Amino acid sequence: MAYELEDELAAELEDELEDEGELEDEDELEDGDRDVNLVFGGGRKARKSSRRSRIAERVASMIVDCHCHAGKGDRMTAPWNTDAPIEPYLRRARRAGIDKTVVFAPFHSNYDEANRQVARIVARFPGRLIGFAFVHATRDAGRIFSMVERARKWGFRGIKSHGFQAMPTRELCEAARAFRMPLLADVVGRAEVVDLLASQFPDVNFIIPHLGSFADDWRAHQRVIDQLVRYPNVYTDTSGVRRFDYIVEAIKRAGARKVLFGSDGPWLHPGLELHKVRLLRLPPDQESLILGGNIIRLLRQVRSEVDPKDMRRVRRERSSSATAGAQAMEAGSSLPPGTQVEHICNHFVGMTLRNHAHDFLLARAELNTVAVGHAQQQVARAIHLGIDQHLF
Ligand SMILES: [Zn+2]
Repeated sequence: MAYELEDELAAELEDELEDEGELEDEDELEDGDRDVNLVFGGGRKARKSSRRSRIAERVASMIVDCHCHAGKGDRMTAPWNTDAPIEPYLRRARRAGIDKTVVFAPFHSNYDEANRQVARIVARFPGRLIGFAFVHATRDAGRIFSMVERARKWGFRGIKSHGFQAMPTRELCEAARAFRMPLLADVVGRAEVVDLLASQFPDVNFIIPHLGSFADDWRAHQRVIDQLVRYPNVYTDTSGVRRFDYIVEAIKRAGARKVLFGSDGPWLHPGLELHKVRLLRLPPDQESLILGGNIIRLLRQVRSEVDPKDMRRVRRERSSSATAGAQAMEAGSSLPPGTQVEHICNHFVGMTLRNHAHDFLLARAELNTVAVGHAQQQVARAIHLGIDQHLF
């Protein structure tokens, strides 16, 4: 399998170096050099004067934001399901010195459509953006592989899922495994889920954003740090993490190889988020892993074709979850209007409420109607409590 990412990076960098007059000798441009191994640090031993080492150096010092949203959402009840404009982000990112950015959709009620939008955006800025496919693990049940396959054809290199909507299912993890794609899975504070995912799918790389919780849940941070230490396939990103010492601890205990720079742009400022990493004052080799080396290493593993063996597993999971997905949709649609968990979570961010909302979502996904009813009551109660206490 050709390492397309390296080819792309090498080609881009060749152009840049040529523009800058750094390539004096045209004869140096031989096809064989396109197969140069661009692993982080790989070019160090090579002669300083060679193009190979210059390209490797550029890749090693490349700053890649592994977490940014792009495109329009359709719900329009909160910024993250309304609009993620890429242009202002790109201006800020350029000023901050960010070379490339992983982008995926904001919250959307149809990820097939949202991913198409992202593909069009990536096509406008091919040198700067790398697409990830957003999937809703239960709503898209039965069609996840085909969504990811389509996205792969657009050049996408990873998958994003969000726990406000659904936790990763076997079908989703099998799709990630089949393409060797990293799965950026927001677990919204429910770090215990990571133990299950990481051990059931040891050959899928999970990036758990926000050190497990965008909502500043320090217990989740602590647990995710333990998981970074224990599981070779668990990574985190720095986006939106406010408690700085947890980032320090994560690197100290799990090593710089397990932490990735991410911004959660365009809603968070990429320059501000990048500065957090700079403030760690790490040795240059560790800092460059966090700023780009780690994500490039994960993206290098992505395949374009699927092994027949992997395909069989994909089919098996697809057919079982297609049935479950259809049933879950039915159960979900029979609920009274206004109880969609996304709707609730988007409006109210109280911890108690969010936990009840998760229970509700899980119960709905598991077709447990008694639990659905119970969770619904709890959600309603939590909302009232919040309103009474002026929490919202
Ligand atoms: Zn995000």
